[in-house]
Amino acid sequence: MIRVIQWGLGAMGSGMAKLILEKDGLQLVGAIDTRPEYAGKDVGSVLGLGRELGVEVQATPDGLLDPDVADIVVIATTSWTAQQMPQLRQILGSGLNCISIAEEMASPEAQSPELATELDQLAKANNVSVLGTGVNPGFVLDLLVVTLSGVCHKVDRIEASRVNDLSPYGPTVMATQGVGITPEAFKEGVANGTIVGHVGFPESIRMISDALGLGVDRVVETREPIVSKVLREAAHVTVQPGMVAGCKHIAVGYAGDKAVVKLVHPQQVHPHLEGQSTGDYINIYGTPDIVMSTGPEIAGGIATQGLAVNMVPHVVQASPGLKNMLDLPAPAALMGASAYRRRV
Ligand code: NAD
Repeated sequence: MIRVIQWGLGAMGSGMAKLILEKDGLQLVGAIDTRPEYAGKDVGSVLGLGRELGVEVQATPDGLLDPDVADIVVIATTSWTAQQMPQLRQILGSGLNCISIAEEMASPEAQSPELATELDQLAKANNVSVLGTGVNPGFVLDLLVVTLSGVCHKVDRIEASRVNDLSPYGPTVMATQGVGITPEAFKEGVANGTIVGHVGFPESIRMISDALGLGVDRVVETREPIVSKVLREAAHVTVQPGMVAGCKHIAVGYAGDKAVVKLVHPQQVHPHLEGQSTGDYINIYGTPDIVMSTGPEIAGGIATQGLAVNMVPHVVQASPGLKNMLDLPAPAALMGASAYRRRV
């Protein structure tokens, strides 16, 4: 049994905790979240399972971060490496392995090389490993792209896009994507940094470029409003015609003057109301050309929970240090004993 602590019990973390409980080879030994309403409650009641599990939700990690208590922490608290560093230092410094779903942790060297070096050294000093994963970055627009390129004799350029539906998400996502506001307010939000679009493009492009040796030396990102022609109503927002339904975020990775990787992520509420299907699309222009498409989109929340939990045995068995999704065995659903014993 691999003993797991779940740190962060929000939309993602609570789904991960439930999934950990379903897996024969994993044992949930601790849960941490600062929400006052969770303090001291049994994790079974916080997850709405209707049964007690004998594991209390703690606001702090006191007493949990100990190799005698746990093997690994799965953390789902924020998107940003710098913001998560205090927790990551505590986890690795205590001799526990770690999986983070913070988008920037998919490849922290992309934007914070000094933090990536610190994490790598801290993990090695404590004989543990740390991985960033999630649906995107961590899977659709990087690992899948790289894996598909594995059959190619040569690659000229890559273009991939993920078209998704934001309507299940909450107010924070609506605000950071600029949903429901005027196109002018959207442009102001992009300029002042309150509208961020997708977090993770520099990380995905870094992973692709490093894996293939494409030599990307700069990434240029653009964020444009998706202006709705029709009324779109979601749980947390109403978009009038003429207002913004989402953010079309594009990132292009250049090697010198040549655009070698283009990633496109138009995120909006109810794209079907204007005839737009959701899906994931990867085009590799090379020998041979590769065209992959899935529809509808690979479900983001479920997929992130799945990846974080399915990677647990690989991270526990990995050599010490900072890892990304390309360093470890391909993710696979943990369905039986052999899935826990893959070669690393
Ligand atoms: P959420 O806001 O629903 O949950 C976050 C939880 O963490 C909250 O319950 C909060 O109380 C808790 N928390 C925050 N800081 C804490 C701390 N220091 N100690 C203890 N608890 C703390 O968010 P979510 O939807 O669960 O997503 C979590 C993060 O993962 C987000 O930043 C999201 O963008 C990211 N994410 C990444 C991917 C990916 O593909 N890589 C996919 C989904 C989500």
